[in-house]
Amino acid sequence: MELQLIEKSDHDLFVQNLINNYQVEGVKPKDGSFIYGSIKAPEELCLDFDCTLISPKKYFLPPKEALLQFALTPDSEITPLIENDPFILFGVHPYDIKAINQMDRIFARGVPDPHYLQRREAALVIGVDPTAVAPRSFWADMGASTVSEGFDLMFTDMGEHFIVEIGTNRGRNLLEEHAKLKPATTDDARERVRIRSRISHICKKRGFAFPKRDIPKLLEHSWNNFLWEEQASKCLSCGTCNIVCPTCYCFDVEDHVDLDLAHGERIRRWDGCLLQDFAAVATGENFRETRASRYRHRFFRKGHYLFEILDDLACVGCGRCASGCLPDIADPVNLFNKLKEG
Ligand code: SF4
Ligand code: SF4
Repeated sequence: MELQLIEKSDHDLFVQNLINNYQVEGVKPKDGSFIYGSIKAPEELCLDFDCTLISPKKYFLPPKEALLQFALTPDSEITPLIENDPFILFGVHPYDIKAINQMDRIFARGVPDPHYLQRREAALVIGVDPTAVAPRSFWADMGASTVSEGFDLMFTDMGEHFIVEIGTNRGRNLLEEHAKLKPATTDDARERVRIRSRISHICKKRGFAFPKRDIPKLLEHSWNNFLWEEQASKCLSCGTCNIVCPTCYCFDVEDHVDLDLAHGERIRRWDGCLLQDFAAVATGENFRETRASRYRHRFFRKGHYLFEILDDLACVGCGRCASGCLPDIADPVNLFNKLKEG
């Protein structure tokens, strides 16, 4: 593992150099929360946040995007629309990087999705270790306190300076070209381990009352549990828990034909399994008509169906769903603990 050090006094210069040369997206405070957006000046970038409202998945899978344009001519002209402008995504917590790593696998399997994959390839991801834990986060319990891949650089706030772990050659080049560096010592590396484990320990105070590896089995035996109905009776079918989740990736695809009836675009937009029409099909059938069936599906998806593909739970413990759900029924920790209690 290669570590370098940037003094805090030199950090703004590094960010300014990036802004001068790249499109930089990062975390900014907004109305008491944190959001991802364009960074136009070093002082806009916030690295000491607990959790952002929406995850960085929007940079790889936008809420709405045009996939292709078509012309209704005899030879049906089709032009794929691929966005691959390079950009830097600065300030991604390890749990969100873990989610991106999962999405990378999902979008590369079967027929690879060039729209997602090319945006991903165009991005330089600069991670940052959390300095604070959001009230509903449980990422330490989900094995997402640290990650070993999925980032080009990883920053850790050490007080007077940042330690930077180099994840890729692209990250190394970026650092060497734009930052004033000092070599990190063995003591710095040891201190980094201590700082990381302190914050992880704070996060550990929230979590499952049983080993998380038992969740897929627990779900297998819980299909008819009364809790699905009981909890879902409070569900507003608003879809917030899907929208904010870094590992939810369902989408809908629509063709929009222009008024000239000769051209059009194929659009994809986020969808959510908690929305009433998610499983509705053209004949008027809806495979998950009841709130309970939709609510149950979300937890089976996170804890069972995707586990079979990823060999890991499709939840990284960010806690966004728990914070965003008005009736407070979306929190995986509460739900799985309740299921375990029987
Ligand atoms: S299910 Fe909830 S806690 Fe888990 S990754 Fe999604 S939003 Fe975060
Ligand atoms: S579980 Fe909560 S956030 Fe999700 S759809 Fe229902 S009310 Fe909305």
